[in-house]
Amino acid sequence: MTLSGALNFFKSSKFISWKSTGRLQQTLVRCVELSGKALHSGEVSTVKLWPELAGVGRYFDFRSNRIPASIDYANESPLCTTLCKDGFRIRTIEHLLSALEGMGVDNCRIEIENSDPEDLDVEVPILGGSASEWVEAIEQAGLKVATDQGGNTCEKMAAHVNEPVHIWRNDSFVAAFPSPEVFISYGIGFPQVPAIGCQWFSSAHFDSSHYSKQIAPSRTFCIYEEVDSVENMRNMGLIKGGGLENAIVCSVSEGWLNPPLRFQDEPCRHKVLDLIGDLSLFARFGSQGLPVAHIVVYKALTLPFECFLVSFLLELKMLQCSVLELLRKAMS
Ligand SMILES: [Zn+2]
Repeated sequence: MTLSGALNFFKSSKFISWKSTGRLQQTLVRCVELSGKALHSGEVSTVKLWPELAGVGRYFDFRSNRIPASIDYANESPLCTTLCKDGFRIRTIEHLLSALEGMGVDNCRIEIENSDPEDLDVEVPILGGSASEWVEAIEQAGLKVATDQGGNTCEKMAAHVNEPVHIWRNDSFVAAFPSPEVFISYGIGFPQVPAIGCQWFSSAHFDSSHYSKQIAPSRTFCIYEEVDSVENMRNMGLIKGGGLENAIVCSVSEGWLNPPLRFQDEPCRHKVLDLIGDLSLFARFGSQGLPVAHIVVYKALTLPFECFLVSFLLELKMLQCSVLELLRKAMS
């Protein structure tokens, strides 16, 4: 079978079709660096974002180990998304990857360092608790069309969902419906916290300007009464770097403890930010991570969210894998 025949075969799969976005893959113009304290370990780490060739995609470079920002290496871990490979672990990747996906940095080497050369664990700095600092760094570095080793540009592909996919647990769900464009609708429900209550956020036409203005500035939030065991969490190596400067905190009886909010529905928008970071792990070879679909999520954060989302991604990946397997066979 010819390559184009194989590609047609690939595109005609029942569940997922890869189509061009009509755009070329991008990368950064130059390197940009940010340092800061990590949310969970409390340690300082440094991230350098480097330009990368078209078709390579996004990956972490930790002590010369390459860890692709891919669902293949994603692990369940409490309160953050983690990548693991060959004993090395990179935690709290979701805000940085959300910014790269949202701003269209399709190919990027993410060099990350911590101060302890013995430590196999590293964590992305939390900065202000949103993705704004990453967006500003990306804008500072600038974006350009990426080329491969031969100097050729590459089309940016995206997975279109052909059939509804969903998973649910109790009253929470994640679903993806066929749609000509990326849409995200996210609902959260905190009836016990009146200042948050029930919120829905729907993304309008999804592009980097919408992402940087409407989604990236929203910060991590937490419920004051639910973090009364801060000491316990810190003993478990969690939220050692957490504070009022990188999270908005809401009390059941007092409302927001460190206003003002950047958006009235900032908590809900932040969940969209995290979701984009997690879905970015679906990217391959510089493709778009976000599937072209209407993605509808409700209350997923009341569950071990990462575990929930990872199983959703794995479900998508399974569908994709079966397609890739067929493609491989068709081409051999
Ligand atoms: Zn987050």
